[in-house]
Amino acid sequence: MPAKVAVVRCDTYEDAAVFDAVGRGLELLGGAGRFVHDAENILLKPNLLVGATPDKVVNTHPAVFSAVARHLAETGAALSWGDSPGFGNALAAARKVGIAQVAEALGVSYVDFTEGRQVSFPEGELIKQFVLASAVLDADGLVTLPKLKTHALTRMTGAVKNQFGCIPGMLKGEFHMRMPDVERFAQMLVDLNRLIRPRLAVMDGVIGMEGNGPRGGDPRQVGVIMLSDDLVAIDAAACRIMNLDPTLVGTITWGEQWGLGGASDIEFVGDHIEEFVVKEYNVNRSRQATTDSGKPKGTLAKRLVVPRPVIDAAKCTACGTCVSVCPVTPKAVDWKDGKGVPPVHDYAACIRCYCCQELCPERAIEVEVPPLGRLLHRRS
Ligand code: SF4
Ligand code: SF4
Repeated sequence: MPAKVAVVRCDTYEDAAVFDAVGRGLELLGGAGRFVHDAENILLKPNLLVGATPDKVVNTHPAVFSAVARHLAETGAALSWGDSPGFGNALAAARKVGIAQVAEALGVSYVDFTEGRQVSFPEGELIKQFVLASAVLDADGLVTLPKLKTHALTRMTGAVKNQFGCIPGMLKGEFHMRMPDVERFAQMLVDLNRLIRPRLAVMDGVIGMEGNGPRGGDPRQVGVIMLSDDLVAIDAAACRIMNLDPTLVGTITWGEQWGLGGASDIEFVGDHIEEFVVKEYNVNRSRQATTDSGKPKGTLAKRLVVPRPVIDAAKCTACGTCVSVCPVTPKAVDWKDGKGVPPVHDYAACIRCYCCQELCPERAIEVEVPPLGRLLHRRS
């Protein structure tokens, strides 16, 4: 059976338009009742990276959150929402985004993701044990609300990666430390999703992010909302829109290989996906790996070849976020000349997780290929 992805045009975040688009998408998949049921506790998981207003296109738009919540509530399910953002407090971030206010108005309760419990997962291909937010474990089912965005490490961040936020707070940094190469990181995400098994994904692609994502990129009007119960398929559909080869995205290749979902055989329903393809979408299409898979940290090759985070001193406000979020001990980006000037990277210690680039509030960090890496790549 092919995986089914509903593709629905939605050119605006006007509430009524988004509500209609999500409703049409659900109908195309057989109705909301196929995914959630009366009296179940269903957890909504938006992409809440940081507190940023919707025009910054960093997070799932509150209108999409609202539309999904209103449609699912009609089934009689009890709804809650939660996330563990990369930096700071979830509720404060959600208030800046507007999701907290929407949730309060709709009676969707907030659940805290800071407390977690260990859960064994013997079926895991790579990870046999996770610590997940207790709220995720206590829910009957999870509906994930990813945003169509680029990502320095994984090229694109979609439905599969959105569940990384189900791991409480600083424990996420441990995973970056344990699996610094992108393939293993993708495998971990696939196992995580095989454990959680989200019921449904609703992807906000009305205005996506391109370039220096997932936080510092630029808005790109796409005009689409996609829905599927197959997270690999919906991410492959997002790749098609970004004109990105899905075999370059580890969560898609490993997701298909390990039975999370299917990218090779997709049935599109609704509007024609080709209408939404942005050929020049600014995304990393290079075949060069974003990390040096499997090599010990600090190798000369890593320093000379693998893309690295670079601070633009003119944009840096010396806020210290990059230093705080760096998971390496001692820090691979740190103050060297006092706190009033930009921090400095130690590329020998840097594992290329790009958390600093991901969370810099000033868009002051870009991921750049070193000169030798550019040369080698041109020859390959
Ligand atoms: S997070 Fe960005 S702005 Fe803040 S200190 Fe680091 S580079 Fe500078
Ligand atoms: S410096 Fe940045 S990319 Fe390097 S390990 Fe620290 S957070 Fe990750």
